[in-house]
Amino acid sequence: MGETEEEKDQAGKLFENFIQASTCKGTLQSFNLLCRLLDLDPQDHETFYCSLKTRLTSWRAKALWTKLDKRTCHKEYKRGQACVGTKCLIIGGGPCGLRTAIELALLGAKVVVIEKRDTFSRNNVLHLWPYTIHDLKGLGAKKFYGKFCAGAIDHISIRQLQLMLLKIALLVAVEFHVNVEFVKLLEPPENQENDGPGWRAEIRPADHPVASIDFDVVVGADGRRNTLEGFKRKEFRGKLAIAITANFVNRNTTAEAKVEEISGVAFIFNQKFFLDLKEETGIDLENIVYYKDNTHYFVMTAKKQSLLDKGVIIHDYIDTEMLLSSENVNQEALLGYAREAADFGTNYQLPTLDFAINACDQPDVAMFDFTSMYASENAALVRERFGHQLLVALVGDSLLEPFWPMGTGCARGFLAAFDSAWMVKRWAEGRTPLEVLAERESLYRILPQTTTENIGKNFEQYTIDPGTRYPNLISTCVRQNQVQRPFSRITFA
Ligand code: FAD
Repeated sequence: MGETEEEKDQAGKLFENFIQASTCKGTLQSFNLLCRLLDLDPQDHETFYCSLKTRLTSWRAKALWTKLDKRTCHKEYKRGQACVGTKCLIIGGGPCGLRTAIELALLGAKVVVIEKRDTFSRNNVLHLWPYTIHDLKGLGAKKFYGKFCAGAIDHISIRQLQLMLLKIALLVAVEFHVNVEFVKLLEPPENQENDGPGWRAEIRPADHPVASIDFDVVVGADGRRNTLEGFKRKEFRGKLAIAITANFVNRNTTAEAKVEEISGVAFIFNQKFFLDLKEETGIDLENIVYYKDNTHYFVMTAKKQSLLDKGVIIHDYIDTEMLLSSENVNQEALLGYAREAADFGTNYQLPTLDFAINACDQPDVAMFDFTSMYASENAALVRERFGHQLLVALVGDSLLEPFWPMGTGCARGFLAAFDSAWMVKRWAEGRTPLEVLAERESLYRILPQTTTENIGKNFEQYTIDPGTRYPNLISTCVRQNQVQRPFSRITFA
């Protein structure tokens, strides 16, 4: 395009700032500056990635394009033409919302993500299955975060994962809007002319440009408290399970480097460890995980009696909401409990145990109730009003809530992201709503059963096509007559 060396240099530097940006705001700012300098419009989603590629030719940029080009070559994307003309709204910029957004963009859809916050602040660490590591490396993860899953490491902090996925999403022309909160879906009005509004989203702030976009697909990826109407939730009530997460500052000293991680110890596998812990400290746990990441991260499931004995929980209530309400938790005692467990768990080898600080400027320790776990009854539904159809789907924690100490959230979340992208492709191909829903629900039946052992082992072959990921797949186990309810149609009032 006839740029001067100076302009190329400047673009290279801005690209570097973008790659290195360590916050959500910083990423968006450097991306906007880069687009302005190159005079590229990221809303021009059909040509943006190609234009960017031809304009950014530093070796670092080229290395990333090589990775991403390999990905864009998947035959399922049909060279970015598979979902051309499809407009998708993703609610929530967590890992699963962003991962879904990337797939839909690669299929050629126009993708808009709305995120109610403007910071990525979760230090907590996600366990990654081998396929997710392979998947992320294939998207250039190491170019954005050199330390990504080096050696035997198989985890990443939530904020670091969001950051890397946001950068990839922006490069493939996903629109990402922070400080925009989804409120509800707005049906198309009745008796409208042909060019009247279709399905839209009521959002806060109401005057945001996203409020005036008509969508064909809406994906709920807003975490365990899904806000999309129409999805019934199934509750799995188990025995009381109280998880504690704690993050300590990692100063990356040699002494800290030597301390071994605990990739997950459960009582039944190492009774001596837990009995010794109880005897020495009074702390009674069912399991514990320790990952050395940007922070020293611990997640443990604690027995209620030991929390009462150690003064963490003040009164014993049957109702778990009351039991774990902030008024019933002694925060200082909770910090002490987490620190003692971390100290014992690491054989007192971590030289200092200073708490990392969370987004609220408080020590990053929290207690969560996993007694009731939720899953949506359906993975998708189709709504039709006055001739306008809308495909609505759930992914991530909104679809199937994970039990953190097992670390399934991101792994199953990404599988659902791929399955949903596959469904949108089918939708764009013009399959009937019942066909699309029946296939999606068949795949959803597999999801809660997936483990590292029973999914396909050839990660190189993984695509959004479910057949590449689930061995012995029967994608017709749910029949079309079983998905009549998720297809709601109103053609006249
Ligand atoms: P999330 O990561 O929850 O992302 C949802 C996003 O949607 C958020 O960014 C949220 O701000 C946004 N949002 C919510 N409502 C709206 C709305 N109305 N409009 C727009 N945006 C909205 N898993 C573990 O394995 N270990 C852990 O220690 C752990 N700790 C966690 C701590 C917290 C506080 C939370 C919320 C989750 C934690 N998880 C943990 C779960 C893990 O983060 C998820 O499994 C994983 O991030 C995939 O989630 P997701 O993308 O579906 O949803």
